[in-house]
Amino acid sequence: MAAAVADGDVKVSEVRDLTRIERIGAHSHIRGLGLDDALEARNVSQGMVGQQDARRGAGIILNMIREGQIAGRAVLLAGQPGTGKTAIAMGMAKALGEETPFAMMAGSEIFSLEMNKTEALTQAFRKAIGVRIKEETEIIEGEVVEVEIDRPGGGSGASTSGSAAKTGKITLKTTEMETVYDLGAKMIESLEKERVQSGDVITIDKASGRITKLGRSFVHARDYDAMGAQTKFVQCPEGELQKRKEVVHVVTLHEVDVINSRSQGFLALFAGDTGEIRSEVREQIDGKVAEWREEGKAEIVPGVLFIDEVHMLDIECFSFLNRALENEMAPILVVATNRGITKIRGTNYKSPHGIPIDLLDRLLIISTKPYTEKEMRLIVDIRCEEEDVEMADDAKELLTKIGQETSLRYALHLITSASLVCKRRKGAEVEIEDVSKVYSLFMDVKRSTQFLVEYQSQFMY
Ligand code: ATP
Repeated sequence: MAAAVADGDVKVSEVRDLTRIERIGAHSHIRGLGLDDALEARNVSQGMVGQQDARRGAGIILNMIREGQIAGRAVLLAGQPGTGKTAIAMGMAKALGEETPFAMMAGSEIFSLEMNKTEALTQAFRKAIGVRIKEETEIIEGEVVEVEIDRPGGGSGASTSGSAAKTGKITLKTTEMETVYDLGAKMIESLEKERVQSGDVITIDKASGRITKLGRSFVHARDYDAMGAQTKFVQCPEGELQKRKEVVHVVTLHEVDVINSRSQGFLALFAGDTGEIRSEVREQIDGKVAEWREEGKAEIVPGVLFIDEVHMLDIECFSFLNRALENEMAPILVVATNRGITKIRGTNYKSPHGIPIDLLDRLLIISTKPYTEKEMRLIVDIRCEEEDVEMADDAKELLTKIGQETSLRYALHLITSASLVCKRRKGAEVEIEDVSKVYSLFMDVKRSTQFLVEYQSQFMY
């Protein structure tokens, strides 16, 4: 199943079904930034609540990304824990489109992984770079095509009355090529019955000659993408439908690396433990992708790489980031921190957010603010719905209070556990007592440290 680059072709087909298995459960309710056309943040939209200024800022950056004006720069989200930094980064990726890769890591991970720092960062970058690969395959009977009708007496489609139209031609529109298909009597009948006009979307059953109209208006390339296929016809002898469709997959460069790394193979993608990938493999892949791009078979889809706790990176990592941002395939780098002036790891120097000046210079900074009680309550509502948890209003209020006292993330974690406790007592909806129970079972940071301090003073001298 594995390596194929060296033999000429990366095995895209093997990657096809391996859609990214990354789980970002806590943010599954985020579907975008929730902005209107004027880039104003709606109070509650696309799973996003409050944090208006930060969302508006992120929206402006998205526009810059779309207009290709952000090359070589990055975004810094600065704010206290649980103020939605990850949520905003995720919202940006979602707003760029479902197929935009989103990869996230915490700065501290770099030091716990069993690989060198540069390799870990390289993998993170390549997880956030997508390759949209086009492949041609046969079209299956009954698939959707776009038509243009041209018949004597019928003009371009509209009139289908009477028996005048017993011969005619149907042009099946393609992205690059067209094929003209002579219509048999049965097809003409179907066309008339269904009142098919130019621009309609139809399916043709070749055996019976039956044409079924699926809807009006041309299907744009994006809609095809949504269906996972772009229909394209190749030139063929008249009367014979030889169809090919263009299937589009988006895989990340990292997935291609793993599948083509001889020592790993595609199962490593599931195990999540990909180990180090040899630089020769990456070079071959980059070469192949460049070739495909030239031939129009592939495009690069820059994704979003989110690095949380960026102050945990050291000076070597920062210089890697600086260099990586220069690459033309670089994803949009979004980093986050909750630190003010602090030491740059690996040096004796202090700087804002623990980030060296040369990188700071490239950053567009967005700050996030703590949530009001009302906003927290709305987020609790959204998460309950997302997790399919029925919860009484007063229990939600308690959870909101807990969130204010401790942290939003802690409060949201309690939703799942409270719902399990509720199920155990066979309750219909989560009540105050379920929330209280899990609150006493699971410590938040403040209580847990307090407990340890008390414990220390009792037993240690
Ligand atoms: P940390 O600094 O600890 O990494 P963070 O600032 O990245 O925290 P998140 O992880 O984004 O905070 O937020 C905690 C939880 O609250 C997540 O489940 C997130 O999806 C949700 N959340 C945060 N802000 C919002 C928001 N504005 N709208 C909806 N959900 C939000």
